[in-house]
Amino acid sequence: METILEIKNLSVDFDGFKAVDDVDLTVEAGKVVGIVGESGSGKSVSQLALMGLIPYPGIIKAETLAFKGNDLLAMPKKTRRKITGKDIAMIFQEPMTSLNPCFTVEFQLTEALKVHEGGTRQSRRERAVELLDLVGIPAPKERLKSFPHQLSGGMSQRVMIAMAIACNPTLLIADEPTTALDVTIQAQILDLLLSLQKKNNMALVLITHDMAVIAETVEDVVVMYAGQVVEKNTSDNIFNRPRHPYTEALLNALPERNVHARRLPTIPGVVPGKYDRPTGCLFHPRCRHATQRCAAEIPKLTHEGQSAFRCHFPLLNGVPQHER
Ligand code: SF4
Ligand code: MG
Repeated sequence: METILEIKNLSVDFDGFKAVDDVDLTVEAGKVVGIVGESGSGKSVSQLALMGLIPYPGIIKAETLAFKGNDLLAMPKKTRRKITGKDIAMIFQEPMTSLNPCFTVEFQLTEALKVHEGGTRQSRRERAVELLDLVGIPAPKERLKSFPHQLSGGMSQRVMIAMAIACNPTLLIADEPTTALDVTIQAQILDLLLSLQKKNNMALVLITHDMAVIAETVEDVVVMYAGQVVEKNTSDNIFNRPRHPYTEALLNALPERNVHARRLPTIPGVVPGKYDRPTGCLFHPRCRHATQRCAAEIPKLTHEGQSAFRCHFPLLNGVPQHER
């Protein structure tokens, strides 16, 4: 299978604070990969780095940041912008803030086509109608004249998806694409993304804080915490045989696993920021399996077959290895 995205040892540094630290990610053509973690875990920042969208004073470093074998950091900015606008597309959590309120749906959809595909005004208009139809917007021709405020949240997200797939990207990065939507609409948007992914044989990177979102949709999962990858595994292993205590804690917070509980267990504390970074394992103040060693020694990412985990005492059948 063709590797389309290869990220090795990516870090994003804001004035000495590592928002992303030593992140690896490989995405193969047509695959669906999930990146999961609470907010502040570096999921979005790592993908914005890939898109070249890190604001000043952020500094991006990577051993490899390659799209289809081409080094994104070494190429001229103009070439990179061509790739990140056409071959790699991104959709964001808040469709309302990503769509420009001053322009019609037609204008916003055809702008991207104009830049990347050319064609005539008429052909772009036809393609826009086709795209709206593809993302399930009824009466697409009439909708072209709508302004964003005339659309519901779900409709706006569909328009965002239409814009993202306008140039047939090879890779689509969806950053919390359903978080701002009602539960029923969430499922529809997720279904839409997956059906487009299959139809166009696109690779999809799905970023979410919600384990439930990735459960049925994703083949490989990357769990991030405080800017680092803490576990990488198949979806089946993540859900049934988690190795990292943070993955376990995320799973324990799922409502399905707590049908009889009055209140959902939550992970105590928050993801550490710039000023409260702990020593040793960054998760240790919140980890129920932490020992003295965890507070003193930084765990390395250990690879085992196709999985990897960053923990001194990885779980095996729910039991940390030092307790067995
Ligand atoms: Fe928990 Fe220690 Fe593993 Fe960190 S290294 S996740 S504190 S057991
Ligand atoms: Mg985010």
